[in-house]
Amino acid sequence: MSSVNDALDNARFTYEQHMRTCRQCHADAAPCAVAKHLLRIYNLARRDHLRTAGGHASGA
Ligand SMILES: [Zn+2]
Repeated sequence: MSSVNDALDNARFTYEQHMRTCRQCHADAAPCAVAKHLLRIYNLARRDHLRTAGGHASGA
């Protein structure tokens, strides 16, 4: 079950590292294609994580 967490952490780390280092994202003040791709992976991982961690389906 920690593998989901790892995937989430990994996706977030990769995305954050990209945002820190990507010149294009800073130059345009908007996410580049790579950033959008990484963000989508991160969102998918987060959704998987929420679905797995959410034992009690409350709210949403
Ligand atoms: Zn970028």
